[in-house]
Formats: sequence, structure tokens, C-alpha cells
Amino acid sequence: MRRRLTALLVGFWIPLVGWAGDTEINGVRVWPAPDHTRVVFDISSPAEYRLFSLANPDRVVIDIDAARLIKPLDQSASPGDSMLKHIRSATRNGNNLRIVLDVTDKTHPKTFLLPPNQTYGHRLVVDLLPQGAGSAKPAAAPPATTVKTTPANSLREVVIAIDAGHGGDDPGALGRHGTAEKDVVLAIARELEQLIRAERGMRPVMIRDGDYYSSLRKRTDKARGNKADLMVSIHADAFKDVRVDGASVFILSERGATSEAARMLAAKENAADLLGGVSLEDKDDLLASVLVDLSQVATIEASYTAANEVLRSMRSVGKLHKPQVERAGFVVLKSPDVPSILVETAFISNPNEERRLKDRDYQRKMAQAIHQGVRSYFNKNPPPGTLLASTRQHIIAQGESLAAIAQRYRVSVDQLRLANNLTSDHVRVGQRLLIPSDS
Ligand SMILES: [Zn+2]
Repeated sequence: MRRRLTALLVGFWIPLVGWAGDTEINGVRVWPAPDHTRVVFDISSPAEYRLFSLANPDRVVIDIDAARLIKPLDQSASPGDSMLKHIRSATRNGNNLRIVLDVTDKTHPKTFLLPPNQTYGHRLVVDLLPQGAGSAKPAAAPPATTVKTTPANSLREVVIAIDAGHGGDDPGALGRHGTAEKDVVLAIARELEQLIRAERGMRPVMIRDGDYYSSLRKRTDKARGNKADLMVSIHADAFKDVRVDGASVFILSERGATSEAARMLAAKENAADLLGGVSLEDKDDLLASVLVDLSQVATIEASYTAANEVLRSMRSVGKLHKPQVERAGFVVLKSPDVPSILVETAFISNPNEERRLKDRDYQRKMAQAIHQGVRSYFNKNPPPGTLLASTRQHIIAQGESLAAIAQRYRVSVDQLRLANNLTSDHVRVGQRLLIPSDS
């Protein structure tokens, strides 16, 4: 009798205790990326949980204390071609929840909790990385994806790293009508990729090429790993005053650069290949800091020149927010050896600009403007050893004469005439001239 009473009491009490502190799992999103798959659970509050892997079959298990599902998980998940095959769940010991991720291969899972952002609440994140990827060092060998055939005489192509900001669970800025920055900047990035690919002597590398998040460090690492000559990060701005509009172009501020040099030096093993193979391991701290500073000063100068070309070219598309290049401590601009610019294409918080950002024509125009700026920069500053350095081009602008162009590229008018089969010195706006190398 007494025993039965206890059982009754326990049966009555446990759910009550459980309900009071229950974490509710409201849904799941799966973001497949080229090098990992991110699984994000929406949770009502930060939860106590354990994560471990099991083999035969390969699976990742997440045990969450005092938790319950609000709706079945596998319905909302859409793994696509990710590492995730299936999501299952079961209740254990009354009110603990076990979630099982069936995976296609052995993985190295990483997990953490994320606080609420403007779109989502508390989240439990599981990153499924291919086994062995967890300890990868930054600036590893470039992935062998977009390799074009090397042109004869082994002149290399100029590499443009195109970085669409945000992605996955990070929507970036949001427009009043729900447009997410991550989507419009990816669309512009893809337009730019097409234009760069069509450009002789240039090769694009997409830093983000899908709806997934990539850390800022990973982005700069990928640009450096691909030996990019320029990194263009594409964003859309937002401000509380909806009237604010226009595009702007940023480069790294000196303050951001200074602290970055310090950080880099703290991790000397990462800094070893910063300076074209000059190892910092055997240098003393002062010399190392001078070397990194020199590299960064040159990089910022190049970034500034490139940013100016892009800003100038963007005047043709729409209003500029600021007439000059701006400086800020954006982490994504911090590669010490890759000139980097960040383009705020427009203000997504301005309803007019939000509409334009969604428009395919406008996206293309914006990409064309960035492309022209990039092309103009590399035509004037072709990196040694590139195809561009041997065959530069110039597109005639309003008011330019053959003599002025010859002077600018330090070649003679005769050389220009010869290289372009010109019979007179008359040139027209938009005409493309080959600039002979000055040897
Ligand atoms: Zn942004």
C-alpha cells in the first residue's frame, strides 16, 4: 500500500518538476556548406546537453536534459546533399530528450550554444565536419575546385576572392519588407563571379557560395589559401533612419590593422607564411612585428587604390553614401597580405534601395560597377608574373587622348599605335586598347 503511494507520488511529481524547467525544441535548420554541415536547433532557453559520436552506423547523439520537442524534427529538416542523412529523436528517462543525427560518414562534430539574434532565439548548433578537418590550420592548400587550364608561357591569372557577407543562420541586415542581406549580396556576388570568369587573365574564387555561414577568419583564410590578389566582400548596410541611402566602400582602418598585427604575432605558427614564405619563427618579436607591419602597410595602400577605383565606378549605378573611401576595423578585411575591400552596396533599411537590391537588373549593374573598378585597378597595377602584366588593357574614357594614355602607361604613342593597329590618333569612348609591355 505504502509502495503504491510512493509510486503514485513519484509518477505525479516527476512530470511537474520536469515541466517547470523544460527546454522546448521548436525546430531545426540544416545548412550544408562545402566543408561542413551545420545543424541548428531552435531552443526556448540555454540547455544542458551532451554530445558524442557512435559508429556502425555512424551517428552523432545529443542528449538534452529536461527537454521536449514541440513538433517532429525530421519533417522540417531538408538535408539536401549534406553530411546528414536523417534526424531521429526519442524521450529517455521521462523527460530527457535524445536526438540522433544519422550521418553519411565519420564526422568530427563541434557544438555550441548561440544567443538570440534579430531573426532567431536561443540556438543549439552542431557543426558536422569531415573527420580530420577539426585540426586544420588556417591558410591550408587551396581547394582544387576552380582550376582553369594555365595559359601558355605559365603566366598566372589574377585571383579575385568574392565574399558574400553573412549566410545561413546569420541573415545580416533585414529590409522592412523582409529582404535578407545574405540573399541579395550572394546574388550580386554570383553576378560578379560570372563577369570575372569571362575576363581574360582573371579568375574568381567564391568565398561563400551558398546559404551557409562561414566565420570571418575562415573567409580570410580561404582568400589567403587561394593566393587571392584582391578580396571583395559584398554587404548591404542598414540604419535606423530609413531615409539614409547610398553605397560605400571600406578598407581596414590602421587601428584594426595594428591590433591584427599583434594578434598574428601571438600565433607565430600561423604567421609563418605571411610574407611570401619568410618564416617568422626564428625572428625576434620586434623584427617580426616590423615585417608584418610592412606587409600590412603595403596591403592597405593597395586596398585603398583598389577601393577608390571601385568607388569611382559605382557612381554610375546610384548614389554614394560617402564620396570617399571609408576605414573600419572589419575582421574580414584583416588579411595582412591580401588587399581587401568591403562594398556596402546600398542601405537595405531604405525601402527604395531594398527594392533595388532585390532587382536582378540592379544586382547585375552593381556587379558590373564593382567589376569595372576591379579591372581598372588591375590594369593600372598588374601583379608581376600575371597575364595582365604582359597584356594590359585600357578602355577609353571621356576626354582621354592617345598621348595621355601613352604617358600614363609609360609607353610611346608609336608603341600604342602598333599594338592596336591604329591608323590615326583618333580614339572613341569605350574603345579597348591593348597596352604593350614597356620592355
Ligand atoms: Zn553585412
